[in-house]
Amino acid sequence: MKRKGIIIVVSGFSGAGKGTIMKELTKRYDQYALSISATTRNPREGEENGREYFFITTEEFEKLIAENGLIEHAKYVNNYYGTPRKYVEEKLSQGIDVILEIEIQGALQIKEQYSDAVLLFVMPPSAQVLEKRLRGRGTETDEVIAKRLARAKEEAVGIEKYDYIVVNDDLDECVEKVHEIIGSAHNTPDRNADFINEMREQLGKF
Ligand code: ADP
Ligand code: 5GP
Repeated sequence: MKRKGIIIVVSGFSGAGKGTIMKELTKRYDQYALSISATTRNPREGEENGREYFFITTEEFEKLIAENGLIEHAKYVNNYYGTPRKYVEEKLSQGIDVILEIEIQGALQIKEQYSDAVLLFVMPPSAQVLEKRLRGRGTETDEVIAKRLARAKEEAVGIEKYDYIVVNDDLDECVEKVHEIIGSAHNTPDRNADFINEMREQLGKF
């Protein structure tokens, strides 16, 4: 039975720990492909073009949209973010699971196009911890932090649209939970329709 690749969308408030979880997950397990998004925001200290993001200009981003080079895109706190099509399609066709760390507008665009995508929302243990993590990261100005917290309030409205939530309290436990959820997703009947139909056909011959 050939395992089909699925898209796993990981969203969560800014500062909830998505990046940290993905880094640890891909370090522990080598079967996941992590999509690298394109963005018009400036690199943070320590970020490298082609590693965390493809950092591009607004003109380049608009060109990508026009060429249908993105499978989804959205504006988030004054900047564009989008998922390049080629990498995702390539990995899926090879049976590899692809993880997209994107916000909610993009997540919903993905669900529309890939109905078997798994949508996962990372929650901080509390709003207080969220603010502390966001400030502790030390990468944004107070103004941007305030905007990101306001955005979190908006995003909280859409959590029910996701398939799963995971709480990022203990990092280790959270990473294992994410791995478990993806593993379970592979075992649903709708993601194994070909195998089930094959079995029915075989049984029909008895
Ligand atoms: P996001 O990608 O969701 O914006 P990050 O991965 O950048 O969030 O994490 C925000 C901050 O919280 C970082 O400084 C990170 O080191 C810290 N962090 C992430 N997960 C945990 C955790 N489980 N416990 C404590 N601190 C964490
Ligand atoms: P950050 O600036 O903190 O790296 O990301 C800001 C927000 O943009 C996060 O919620 C992140 O998940 C989201 N994001 C990153 N890449 C993409 C993308 O390709 N598409 C969409 N829709 N959102 C993205």
